[in-house]
Amino acid sequence: MKTPIPFYLQKILNGVHDHDSGEVADYIPELASANPDQLGVALCSVTGHLYSAGDAENRFTIQSISKPFVYALALSELGLDAVRDVVGLEPSGQAFNELSLAKDHRPVNPMINAGAIVVNQLINGVDSSVEDRVEKIRSFISQLAGREVDVDKRLCDSELEHAERNLSLAHMLRSYGIIQDDAHDAVLSYTSQCALSVDVRDLAVMTATLANGGRQPVTGEKILDADVCRMTLAVMSSCGMYDGAGRWMTEVGIPAKSGVAGGLIGTLPGQIGVATFSPRLDEQGNSVRGTAIFRELSSDMGLHLMSTENRFGVHPVRSVDEDDETAIIRLQGHINFTATEAILHELEERQFSGKRLALDFSQVSGLHKVGRRMLKEGLRRLREEGNEVALVDDDGLVTDRAMSDGTVLPLADKEDYVIAGEEV
Ligand code: GLN
Repeated sequence: MKTPIPFYLQKILNGVHDHDSGEVADYIPELASANPDQLGVALCSVTGHLYSAGDAENRFTIQSISKPFVYALALSELGLDAVRDVVGLEPSGQAFNELSLAKDHRPVNPMINAGAIVVNQLINGVDSSVEDRVEKIRSFISQLAGREVDVDKRLCDSELEHAERNLSLAHMLRSYGIIQDDAHDAVLSYTSQCALSVDVRDLAVMTATLANGGRQPVTGEKILDADVCRMTLAVMSSCGMYDGAGRWMTEVGIPAKSGVAGGLIGTLPGQIGVATFSPRLDEQGNSVRGTAIFRELSSDMGLHLMSTENRFGVHPVRSVDEDDETAIIRLQGHINFTATEAILHELEERQFSGKRLALDFSQVSGLHKVGRRMLKEGLRRLREEGNEVALVDDDGLVTDRAMSDGTVLPLADKEDYVIAGEEV
């Protein structure tokens, strides 16, 4: 069976495809010429399963999405106290390019440009050359992505030609002694960081690394400490969406970060990382269709961080028992989207064929509607591949057993699915 997750991602893309409001960023000339219709999404679980749909391999510049990652690098190089000496931890409620500093002259928010220019300066020590600093960041982002990423020089040069605003921030920061480099070097270093070229698959894996306490889920490499990831995600959740951060957290509830090239990432700690790409932006500079996708994921898949249904700690497949003819997959816990992904992945791996197969819900405490829909689709696919499928569901958790092909999933008695010699 092929897991239906990419099919659901594609469905979500289809649902937002016709939203054509918003404008591509035009203050960076190279961005103004981007094809506004590009649309892609990728999702990576903390177990390293990566799914994508749409223009998932189209490259774009990371822009402000670099900010949480470089912040995490600064935290792991210097610790929170040293970072907090030069940049605060508060949502500023201001636009990303606001010329704003606190009374003590530090930027308050590390996720807007003023803060991010300061954080960039911390990397590789105060005496670092711009070249070494950028290389350190490039190689760190490459580790997170699991492949070598590069700086898009054309984009970087194009932004530097019109960097008056960031230059004025850097001059201001230097005049107060918050940064050491001259303003031009500081902006060159920060702009190079923003010009790293990625796709949504890279971003989903990078984001899943934060969700996974710093272990890159595909390569298995331990890159960051768990407490650095926790602090970074906390800052993302309060400061990540600029002046729309409060509304975003209430309505979408997924710690997120956007970039002006049209990228958007979101993390569910301990569960998944998601990335979208669509270049048209709203007034805050957040991708319009990316925002719509995250809204959909949050409501439809129940991914809001503050959702009281969002419990997923144990492995959702308690056991799989099979003999030549029969297989029973016993589930447990609360089946939310992340649990559903894990179950479908396990069903895909097992490659069942020609079996009498039952999904046992006896130990399941709750089932999200998307979990129900996707598990039914998985069972439909298993049936198409020659298995006879049924549910063990005495408590009636699967409230709607109608399948997309018009048939109804049969219920089975647990006793009919006991495998010889096993203890149930
Ligand atoms: N490089 C961009 C800038 O400094 C990043 C802004 C963004 O992605 N929001 O203007």
